[in-house]
Amino acid sequence: MKLTVLVDNFTYIDQYYHGEPAAAYYLELEDKRILFDTGYSEIVLSNAEKMGIDLSKLTHIVFSHGHDDHTRGFKFLADKIDLANVEVIAHPACFLPKYSGDLYIGAPYSLQEMQAKTNFKPLAESYALTDKLIYLGQIPRTNDYENKEPIGSYEQDGKREADYLLDDTALAYRTNEGLFIITGCSHSGICNIIEYAKKVCGEERICGVLGGFHIFEDDMRLAKTVEYLEKCNLQKLYPAHCVSLIAKAKMMAKLPVVEVGVGMQLDI
Ligand SMILES: [Zn+2]
Ligand SMILES: [Zn+2]
Repeated sequence: MKLTVLVDNFTYIDQYYHGEPAAAYYLELEDKRILFDTGYSEIVLSNAEKMGIDLSKLTHIVFSHGHDDHTRGFKFLADKIDLANVEVIAHPACFLPKYSGDLYIGAPYSLQEMQAKTNFKPLAESYALTDKLIYLGQIPRTNDYENKEPIGSYEQDGKREADYLLDDTALAYRTNEGLFIITGCSHSGICNIIEYAKKVCGEERICGVLGGFHIFEDDMRLAKTVEYLEKCNLQKLYPAHCVSLIAKAKMMAKLPVVEVGVGMQLDI
């Protein structure tokens, strides 16, 4: 599988793509061309064009969760490209309106609008995009140190509820060396995600992890996450999007960290 970072917070020197505090990854494998998240703005389109990636040929769009830094770019895609035949996969709660206080931080369209624009599959359970690439669906939160706090609220049936981001999910890709995990923001916890991926895929080995981990503080959770990832015996760790400098520094001391930026390409 070929993975290209289309949108990330960071850019590399001498490569004139645009960055923004958001995420989008382009995946090519077999006859599938998959966009995992869409970033926040139109840069998903302009970066793809500069990289020679034709997003009008997408077969799938998969959303990690409903926050606007992962879904808002969809509006720009939908304005430019006919997505009627593109299979779109996300948790059913992904397109509920989400707020931080009064600020809208959710997806640009409702679930009904997504169904009208695309071949939309709301899926809370795991789903095989191919034999090797698995959408994990809703992640069970099994450990006692990750993500116990809600982020803002969501609205359903006219009521606002604390948002624990039950829509948060990730992808797992089977390789000969074990699973390669790709996350959006890991609101469900990167360790919970990895544990669930092992269970869903029936594979204990993890060869790599790429994506946002939503870790900012130098605290107990970071220490436990580093300890957990050390036990995974990873070949490479690609912290992206929402991992602070101090968290990356703590990870680098113990783990095979690789710097991520827009334009990075991996053959996995
Ligand atoms: Zn988020
Ligand atoms: Zn995010």
